[in-house]
Amino acid sequence: MSTRVLDGQAVAAAIRESLLPDVQAFAGAAGRPPGLGIVLVGDDPGSEIYVRNKVRAGSDSGLWVDLQRLPAAATLDDLLAVVRRLNGSDRHDGILVQSPLPGSMGKGAAQQVFDAIDPAKDVDGFHPTNVGRLVQGRALLAPCTPSGVIELLERSGIAIGGRRAVIIGRSEIVGKPMAMLLLQRDATVTIAHSKTPDLPGLCAAADILVSAVGRAGFVTPEFVRSGATVIDVGISRLTDEATARRLFEPGSQRLADFARRGSLVVGDVHPAVFDKAGAITPVPGGVGPLTIAMLLKNTLTAARARRAASLG
Ligand code: NAP
Repeated sequence: MSTRVLDGQAVAAAIRESLLPDVQAFAGAAGRPPGLGIVLVGDDPGSEIYVRNKVRAGSDSGLWVDLQRLPAAATLDDLLAVVRRLNGSDRHDGILVQSPLPGSMGKGAAQQVFDAIDPAKDVDGFHPTNVGRLVQGRALLAPCTPSGVIELLERSGIAIGGRRAVIIGRSEIVGKPMAMLLLQRDATVTIAHSKTPDLPGLCAAADILVSAVGRAGFVTPEFVRSGATVIDVGISRLTDEATARRLFEPGSQRLADFARRGSLVVGDVHPAVFDKAGAITPVPGGVGPLTIAMLLKNTLTAARARRAASLG
């Protein structure tokens, strides 16, 4: 069977290009570009890369991106003060606080921060108001990663209505909103997690399988019905050579890359699944670029809605 590789990079580029005239139109009418405030606390290397990519993508798309940095020693109160300042700013249409927050801020800090962001500026879609609207099927700002998956499926012509979808993972940022968005498009949805019995058997009944676990090579061919669509949301940095050798064929490009760099970014889906799926997203180059494209789209949406509200 020939497997279709779903090119997230290309779809993300198409989304970003389609935003350009709308961003220009907004800037022309409002006298300023849509503004995105990104708050980065500490110096987590992964977060540095994600934030750098978001700043670059936003600027390339004509947005004003304001990166606010706080030291790793900042307190939760310091962070909440920044959020309140951005809430009150007219130039900031969207606010994103990069996760993870330093452990020293305490358990539940991220939720307190998400709760503090003005729902009208909540471009991550994590505020309870926006979560509620999503559940009711009237979201203005939905979480970026699952929205990106929907864009990828729809723009790739993969039918969702009437299909059986299984999502592995029940997080607030991926699994649960993914389930809502698929359900609203008439899929029959099952959410699986670490306590789900017979996970491979359950997944093998899916027409659309979404994995958001964060474990390299977790989804093996026994999880996948022949011809199914497999969406790999997971991102792990692989540094263990034995695992790399277990996952990738001797002589493969991926093993050569591992040997050169000493690490690899991989998804949840085992490479052997590529021969069984009908369509599949690679990692990297699958869901990741879409997440950023949807962040830009949400910022434009927030900017327009705020302007419309201010004009009455
Ligand atoms: P998370 O909050 O850690 O959730 C992981 C989920 O996986 C949990 O629901 C957990 O179940 C489930 N799980 C763990 N082990 C399992 C097992 N053995 N069997 C079945 N389910 C299992 O992670 P997340 O924030 O949703 O992120 C998931 C992955 O997506 C990570 O790799 C993350 O880096 C990646 N991600 C990628 C993007 C992107 O742009 N591509 C964006 C966001 C996240 P329990 O609830 O029972 O513990």
